[in-house]
Order: sequence, then C-alpha cells, then structure tokens
Amino acid sequence: MRAQPQASHYIGGSYLESQAGTPFDSLYPATGEVIARIKTADDGVIEAAIRTAKDGQKIWAATPPVERGRILRKAAEILRQKNRELSVLETLDTGKPLQETLVADAASGADCLEYYGGLAATLTGEHIDLGGSFAYTKREPLGICFGIGAWNYPIQIACWKAAPALVCGNAMIFKPSEVTPLSALKLAEALSEAGLPDGVFNVIQGFGDVGARMVAHPDIAKISLTGSVPTGAKVAALAGEHLKKTTLELGGKSPLIIFKDADVENAVSAAINANFYSTGQICSNGTRVFVHADIKEQFVARLAERTQGAVLGDPLDEATNIGPLVSRQQLEKVLHYMQVGREDGARLVCGGGAAAVASFPDGYFVQPTVFADVKDDMRIAREEIFGPILSVLDFTDEDDVIARANDTEFGLAAGIFTRDIQRAHRVVDQLQAGTCWINTYNLTPVEMPFGGYKKSGIGRENGHTAIAYYSQVKSVYVEMGGVEAAF
Ligand code: NAD
Repeated sequence: MRAQPQASHYIGGSYLESQAGTPFDSLYPATGEVIARIKTADDGVIEAAIRTAKDGQKIWAATPPVERGRILRKAAEILRQKNRELSVLETLDTGKPLQETLVADAASGADCLEYYGGLAATLTGEHIDLGGSFAYTKREPLGICFGIGAWNYPIQIACWKAAPALVCGNAMIFKPSEVTPLSALKLAEALSEAGLPDGVFNVIQGFGDVGARMVAHPDIAKISLTGSVPTGAKVAALAGEHLKKTTLELGGKSPLIIFKDADVENAVSAAINANFYSTGQICSNGTRVFVHADIKEQFVARLAERTQGAVLGDPLDEATNIGPLVSRQQLEKVLHYMQVGREDGARLVCGGGAAAVASFPDGYFVQPTVFADVKDDMRIAREEIFGPILSVLDFTDEDDVIARANDTEFGLAAGIFTRDIQRAHRVVDQLQAGTCWINTYNLTPVEMPFGGYKKSGIGRENGHTAIAYYSQVKSVYVEMGGVEAAF
C-alpha cells in the first residue's frame, strides 16, 4: 500500500493503533487502488486521546504565548519544506491534481499556522475604567476542542481548526473524514517536530459514530465541524443537548452574478475557478452563474471553449487540470445530477457524463459540465451537487437578480463581476452570504474570516474573528473602595 501510516491514530505525540476498531480502506480515486488500511478509534483510543489532551492542554495553556507562536510558525515551516511529499499524499487520498495540491493544500495550511503563530503574542484583554474601580478582561482557552473534517481539503481543514484552537491555549482532537484519513496524521507529526507538547494535537479516525461519541463526550468543550448541512444539523442538535460551543462550516449553492459591463474573459476565468477547481468539490463554489442576457451567449461560448480545453487525467501529472471525483459515491451522485439537469430541461452546453481517461479505466472521472437556460426552480440550481456542474441562469434587472441570488437556504458565498464600483458595493450589501468577492472568486486567504449565513453555518474560521470562537472572555471587577449594602 502506497501511503500506509505507521498506525491509524496519533495520540500524545506518537502513533497508536486500535485494538478493536473496524478496518476501512483509503482509496486512490484515479485507480480505485487501496493506498492505506485504517482502523476506527475504539474506546481505548478515545480515552487515551482525552487523557493526553487534558494533560497536554494544562502545559500548553501555561506556555508563554510568544513560545506558542514560535512553535506554530515552526510547524508552518515544516509543512512548507515537506510540501511536495504532502501534496502527493493529498493527491493520492483525494484525487485532486498535483497541480492544485502543490499550491493549495499544505501550503494554505502553512499560511494558517504562520498567521495564528504571528497573532499569538498579541492576544490581550482590555482594561475598563469604572470611575475609581475598574475591570479587566482576559481571554482564556476553552479546554479540549474536537475538530471534524470533510474530505475536500483535508490538511487545510485540519490547520484551519488546529491553528486558532492552539494559539488560544486549547488542545485539539481532530477526526479527519473517513474518506481522506491520511494527511492530518502528517500535520500531527509536523506539530510534534516543531515542539508542540505531547497531547495538544491528536488525530483519531472513524466514521460519524466516532464523531458523535466525541461530540457528546463530557470532556470536550467545543466542536468545530466542516461538512454537509444534514451532518451540521445532527452535530448542532447533539452539541445543543450538552450545551457545547459549536462552529459549523457547511454547504452552499452560491451565486456568481456577471453584469453586462463585466470583463467577460475575467468573468469566465472566475466561473471556471468557481466550478471546476478541485473537480467542483468546494463548499463555496459559485454554481449558480447569473449572466446578463445581453452578454450571455458570448459568455457561454467562451466558457464552453475554455472548459473543453481543460486537461483531464493523471492527477500525479503536473499538466493535469482536472482529476477524478473523490469516491464512487460522489461519482454516482454527480452523474445523477447530470441526468437531472437534462430531465428538468436545462440546455447541455458541454460535458454531461462520465469521462473515459486512458490508463485509468477504474477512476471516478466526469466531464466538466455546463448547463445553460437553467431556471431557478430546477434541482441543479437548488441542491448542492459538489461536483463540476455549472448552471448558467439569465437575468436583466439588478433587484431581480439579487432577490433570486438570495432565494436559497444556503448563504456561504457570492461573487459579482462589474466595472461599476457603486453597483458592486450596492449589490454586495444586499447579498446574504458570509464571503463575497468582487471581480474574482474562491480566494480564501487566512487573513479573511470565512463562514456561512443561513444554513451554511454558524461561526467563522480564519482571521482575527476566529479567536472569539476558540476562547472565552473572563471579566474581572476590581473594587477600589468600600462595599455598600442595603442592610
Ligand atoms: P459529511 O457531512 O458527510 O461529513 C463531514 C464529517 O462529519 C466527516 O468527518 C464525517 O465522518 C463526520 N460526521 C458524519 N456524521 C456525523 C455525526 N452524526 N456526528 C459527528 N460527525 C459526523 O461531509 P463530506 O461529504 O465529508 O464533505 C462535503 C460537505 O462538506 C459538503 O456539503 C461541503 O459543502 C461541506 N464543506 C464545507 C466547507 C466549509 O468551510 N463551509 C468546506 C468543505 C466542505
């Protein structure tokens, strides 16, 4: 097996195998080949993770912030030094082309560790003047945080949760998606090598049942999930029962609005990035592309031409633009929606089916697909597909397109293309989305908070904002005079 780790879990600074866990396989989506066999966490693993996280967190919280920051920045350096090795691993686990993983996965994880490492020594409370007496606030850690990952950006998601959690003095136990269990273990190794005390970052493996057990575990103070809306609802309900703090990064069906004064070539580039990067498996994708009727045919023609020029194939070949979908299940789902688009009367512009790739007969490849003349009530325009299916919808009126863009239960992201600066801000102000892009799409630098409106999530990751979700404020009133009492 090409990517078998030393053991399934990483607990207390070293690898640990389950005695009784259920085995499952990690597959290379381009070939269906088993690349690693992992076992789910059993009781022993879970209790070992909790024990070591408790001990580690005490040591970590007492570590001076400047030292915490240095360790996170050192871990960032290690990820960068190992970028190629980590990118190949991520490509094997997800099927995403190396062309992408080399720049977008461990690299963005490293940015995140570096960013929060830099913030470490700047996190302070406030002094509040009460007229003689005063109060002060301090930010304290929550304790042990539990991170749950999705499969589309495995190491990035692990870093987006670990870095802000750790900088605030928490410990983290992270469960990657069962579909992509491997790279979080490498993050754990890098953090240990950087000097993180044992037990402060641990990785356990498993399916939803392991996730749910951890959510309900009395020693877990906070949960941060990246996943689908239905999983988010389950996690929120269980966390609510135990009154636990939660951050939820969920799905989307985001709009990308192209006004008629837009630079069409740039808008086509953005639509491509918003739909076909990572084979369309990105939560913030702009899958509803509203194009002004006056430029629609020009836009669609150019989009089709460029989409048909994409290089689909061997993910490990750096010339490849588009790899397979992550799993057979995802392949079947995406092929189903290609059929649904046709049945509901959308006009198929290009793609529309499975892709035959020489030398990869068992890979989960599909053609990047564009539908035009899509109507708001079609299923491909309402439901999250999580694959390379782009829907073009027409519009003519600004107010109307804003209302249609917002007519969804999701609210993760939105984008607009226009050269009119006033229109850009007027429209963005009305869009119900946690992240908006003007004249670009899908850029998520760590400096910028990221998260959803409506059913797309609760809380924010990244930026200074995330600190509030991994810490709690203690207010301390200091009396400088006497104490009055009524009797
Ligand atoms: P998923 O919801 O199936 O699984 C996500 C994680 O939750 C997995 O680790 C899974 O094991 C775990 N899980 C499942 N049931 C659970 C339960 N009852 N309790 C606790 N944990 C449980 O999602 P997925 O298929 O891995 O990822 C795709 C989804 O993730 C899409 O909807 C996508 O939009 C979303 N996503 C969101 C973001 C974001 O930042 N908003 C980023 C990436 C992906």
